[in-house]
Amino acid sequence: MSCKKIKKQLLLFLDNELPEALHQEIQHHLAGCSSCSDHLKKVASIWECPADVETIEPSPWLWTELPRSYPHRKTGRIGLPVSGNR
Ligand SMILES: [Zn+2]
Repeated sequence: MSCKKIKKQLLLFLDNELPEALHQEIQHHLAGCSSCSDHLKKVASIWECPADVETIEPSPWLWTELPRSYPHRKTGRIGLPVSGNR
């Protein structure tokens, strides 16, 4: 599986929503791919601590990837960056 495909599945991977075989395939890939395992760490830190999302720098990819990967979840849980306060 390509890194691009792995990264698309990481959110589902974190939530254990993938079939066993696919889950293990990704796990195996992560063990040997620093690019994807770095990506997983970023996703995990944001995904598991949504309350802290404002204290970390939002990655541009997250705001584009999340709604697409998780159409059934309200992105309001994450909190999109708002350019208000004027
Ligand atoms: Zn990879």
